[in-house]
Amino acid sequence: MSDSCIFCKIASGEIPAKIVYQDDQIVAFEDVAPQAPHHILIIPRKHIRTTLDLTTADNQMIGHIYQIAGKIAHDLGFSEDGFRIVNNCNADGGQVVWHLHFHLLGGREFVWPPG
Ligand code: AMP
Repeated sequence: MSDSCIFCKIASGEIPAKIVYQDDQIVAFEDVAPQAPHHILIIPRKHIRTTLDLTTADNQMIGHIYQIAGKIAHDLGFSEDGFRIVNNCNADGGQVVWHLHFHLLGGREFVWPPG
């Protein structure tokens, strides 16, 4: 855990969030500034700064995040219509919170290429 990390504090319960799923490895909660009718952030409990800091030890956890993203989309009722999973990495990627997270976006149509 990083003492200054807002997502570590959400994972530990120190900062409140609307949690939609959690287990011993990951936490999923509603984004505070939703960009779609459904906008969930999925994070590892372990503090990992960016995608570039992943190691082979994290492979199972990343697969787990994707599997749970599909489960959340199914449970919230937008899996069949479709959804998008986004990971922003570093400045050009638009990352502003320095704890690895995946945006699960659904409930509307998304354009491609992204902005
Ligand atoms: P990114 O640009 O990929 O780093 O996205 C960070 C996301 O975290 C943004 O969509 C923010 O709205 C979201 N966010 C920041 N603080 C909180 C918070 N306390 N609770 C929920 N979402 C947050």
